[in-house]
Amino acid sequence: MNNDKKIEIKSMVDNQRKFFRSGKTLDVSYRIKILKRIKILLQENESKLYDAIYQDFKKSEIETYMTELGSIYHEIDRACRRLKYWAKPKRVGTNILNFPAKSFLVPEPLGVCLVIGAWNYPYNVSILPLVSAVAAGNTVILKPSEIASHTSKAMAALFNDELNTEAISVIEGGVKQTSIILEQKFDKIFFTGSTRVGKIIYAKAAEKLTPVTLELGGKSPAIFTETADLKMGIKRMVWAKFLNAGQTCIAPDYCVVHHSIKEKFLTLLVAEIKQASYAIENDNYVQIINSNNTQRLIELIEGATVFYGGDYDLDKRIVFPTILNNVNFEDAIMESEIFGPLLPVIEYKDINDLFLKLQSRPKPLAAYMFTSKKEIKKKFIKELSFGGGAINEVIMQFTNPKLPFGGVGESGFGNYHGKKGFSDFSHYKSIMDKPTFFELSLKYSPYSLRNFKWIKKLLRL
Ligand code: NAD
Repeated sequence: MNNDKKIEIKSMVDNQRKFFRSGKTLDVSYRIKILKRIKILLQENESKLYDAIYQDFKKSEIETYMTELGSIYHEIDRACRRLKYWAKPKRVGTNILNFPAKSFLVPEPLGVCLVIGAWNYPYNVSILPLVSAVAAGNTVILKPSEIASHTSKAMAALFNDELNTEAISVIEGGVKQTSIILEQKFDKIFFTGSTRVGKIIYAKAAEKLTPVTLELGGKSPAIFTETADLKMGIKRMVWAKFLNAGQTCIAPDYCVVHHSIKEKFLTLLVAEIKQASYAIENDNYVQIINSNNTQRLIELIEGATVFYGGDYDLDKRIVFPTILNNVNFEDAIMESEIFGPLLPVIEYKDINDLFLKLQSRPKPLAAYMFTSKKEIKKKFIKELSFGGGAINEVIMQFTNPKLPFGGVGESGFGNYHGKKGFSDFSHYKSIMDKPTFFELSLKYSPYSLRNFKWIKKLLRL
C-alpha cells in the first residue's frame, strides 16, 4: 500500500514535470484561461463548498464567503487583470561600464510547486497560493490539511475530477502521505501551518535545496493605550478575535491594556461579546475543528482564572468566548499560540517597558495598536517586529491585495497576495543585452596602469 502510494505520488510529480517542460505554462494567456476556469468551477460548485465547510466547522455561508471564497475570487480577478504586466520583462538601468547595453529582469516560473495547507481557513490558505503559483506559470501539487477532511475532499474532487488540467493535482492525506510527497523533488514548497511543522518542512526542503515560503503562526498582541478609542477598538477587536472561534492565524492572541483604562476596557469588552450573540444556531459562531483542539482549549480554561465566559461543550466541540484577566507574560497561557476563543488580558503601566518585553518574545505574525497618538503609532511601527499589522484596526490588512501577507522570524518568511504572490513563485532572471558596435577595451590584457585608473573611475559610476 505504502509502496503503491509512493509510486502514485512519484508518477503525479513526474507527469507535472513533463507537462511543465512542454512549455505550455509559459504562455500567459494559458495561465489566465486556467485561472478563469478555476473561478467558474468554484462558483458553479459553491453549494458543495459551503456544505463541506459546514461539515468541518459548522461555518455559515456568509462567513465562508467573507473569509474564504470572496478573497479567492478577488485574487483570481486581480491576477487575470494584471498578469500580462507582471509577467513582462522589467527594464532596469545599466552602469556606464557596460555602455551601450540594456538590462532586464525577466520573471520565469520555478517549475513544479508543492502547496501544503492548514485547516483553519482551508480554502483560503490552499487556493490563494495555488492561484499565485499558476499565475506565475508553475504547476501545482496541492496537499490540503487532512484535519478539515470534508473541505480537503471537496478540493480534491474539484481540481482532480472537474478542472482536469495537467497543471494542478490535489493529493489528500496527513503526515504519512506528506512525508512521501516530501521525498520528491520540487522547485518550490509553500507551507502554511504551525512553526513546529514548518521546521520539519524547512529541514526536508534543505536536503534538495528547494526554496520555501513558510506561512506560520505566533502570539499576536493587541495593545490598547490610554488614548485608544475604546468603543470602536473593542468592537473591531472582538469581531476579529472570535471570528472562526479564534482559529485565525492573524487574530489577536492576547490584549495588553494600559492600567488606567483596564476597568472600562473589560466592561466594554464583555458588553461587546454579549451583543455579538455568538451561537452556532444563529450562524454567528463556528465549532472547534476537532476534539483534540477542543480538549486542549478546555485544559487552558481550567488552568486559568476566568473573568468572563469559560463555557464549553466537548461533545459538540464548542468553546464560547472567554476572557482571562490579570494574566502575566510568565503565565502558562502565554507560552504558545492559543488558536481559539480565549482572550488573556495583560495590564501595562509604561509603554517603554512593554515594548522591551515584546521585543524579547518571538516575532509574531501580526500586531495591533490602538491609540490616537502619532508618536505611539510611529514607535509601534519602528520598534516592534512582526509580519504585518494594523493601527486602530484588526486583521483587515489581510484584505488589501497591495499589502503582502507573511511572517518574520519565528512566524515565517516569504509573502504573498497580489503581485507579491506572483513574485514569490517566480525567479527574476537578470539579463544584459549588449550590441557589438562598441567595446571598451580597458578590461582586456595586456593590463596597463593608465587603464587601471579608468577602470577605477568607471566602476564608481
Ligand atoms: P500544522 O502545522 O499541524 O499542519 C499544517 C499542514 O502540515 C497540514 O497539511 C498537515 O497535514 C501537515 N503536517 C502536519 N504534520 C506534519 C509532519 N510531521 N510532516 C509533514 N507534514 C505535516 O498546522 P495546522 O494545525 O493545520 O494549522 C494551525 C497553524 O497554522 C497555526 O499555528 C496557525 O497560526 C498557522 N497558520 C498560519 C497561517 C499563515 O498564513 N501564516 C494561516 C493559517 C494557519
